[in-house]
Amino acid sequence: MKTDIFARNKLALQELCLAHKIPKFRASQIIDWLYAKQVVEFAEMKNLGRETIQILQEQFTNSFLSIRCLKELTASSGNTSKVVLAFADGETCESVCMRHNYGNSICVSSQIGCAVGCKFCASGLGGFKRNLTAAEMLAQVMYFAKQLKANGERVSHVVIMGSGEPLLNYENVLEFIRLLHDPELFNISYRNITLSTSGIIPGIKRLQTESLPINLAISLHASEQEKRTTIMPINASYCLHEVVECAGRYAQNTKRQVTYEYIMLAAVNDSLEDAAKLVSLLRGQLACVNLIPANNVQEYGLQKSPLTQVKAFQEYLQKNNIPVTIRKEMGADINAACGQLRNKIEELE
Ligand code: SAH
Ligand code: SF4
Repeated sequence: MKTDIFARNKLALQELCLAHKIPKFRASQIIDWLYAKQVVEFAEMKNLGRETIQILQEQFTNSFLSIRCLKELTASSGNTSKVVLAFADGETCESVCMRHNYGNSICVSSQIGCAVGCKFCASGLGGFKRNLTAAEMLAQVMYFAKQLKANGERVSHVVIMGSGEPLLNYENVLEFIRLLHDPELFNISYRNITLSTSGIIPGIKRLQTESLPINLAISLHASEQEKRTTIMPINASYCLHEVVECAGRYAQNTKRQVTYEYIMLAAVNDSLEDAAKLVSLLRGQLACVNLIPANNVQEYGLQKSPLTQVKAFQEYLQKNNIPVTIRKEMGADINAACGQLRNKIEELE
């Protein structure tokens, strides 16, 4: 089997080069072609010399080349585009590129499907299929990085908020984050990387031991135990008070504010009573709340809250000194919420 050259740091690539009788210094050149120049075909890596290119072609592969884009949609605003990517085994995932005034952010999927099964999320509809490798996550970033480079732009932010629960794919996700941060690869500051979790407590605790000052986002979505269990069954194992306590320690240790994501679902979690409970849960925490206008997922029969209700909820939090933002609905017209496009494509097949 051929050795994959993609998603390796310099040290790993140097070892592979030596093992295949390629001089060690070629590793830096290959990395430069792949990530600085975003040239992915061996034959186009001009300064490597004919001999090295031949060894690469015979003994190596670049797994980035095996991904195919099945569908690409750009929102009417032009600032958000979403792709469905197929990997070598035919499994698909979706990724989103959002162009903000502060930079370009890529939303990456960490698993095919999701086992957590939240009752508002399209990702869990087909159940869990498999974990994505670090290379498959990096390929999602690379896909957009190549497009952006053509416009003289780069990827500045990554959010691990696509399909899947990243803390249930811990090792691969951590390897991916380190590759993103590697100055010779994507050189993305840890502060510009956000990992979103449904609250897998052992994973949050483990993350705390890594000394990676990345941003943590918690999908909270309800401020009361029973209600949260109804929409997020995982809450029966990792209950909201413990999740908030654990995330609070993460915030203290890393000095990074934790973001609590809260999908506004009509007549489910959007009353001022819910807001009051949220205030008492988060009081004194280094935290902010991101209210998310829900994307309707037909299969669940849940509706998004009216904007007036979202605003009233926001005002209540503000009055009680909880920092709060309302997520911009970027790309609602292209089903930019988690899992939605992939499912639509599967329906068509
Ligand atoms: N599994 C992780 C990360 C991926 S899901 C987690 O749960 O945090 C990340 C986000 O997808 C959720 O927090 C939510 O913001 C978004 N999401 C899922 N279903 C949605 C829907 N129907 N409408 C809007 N956002 C949704
Ligand atoms: Fe999985 Fe996150 Fe969707 Fe819940 S919200 S089903 S954890 S992807």
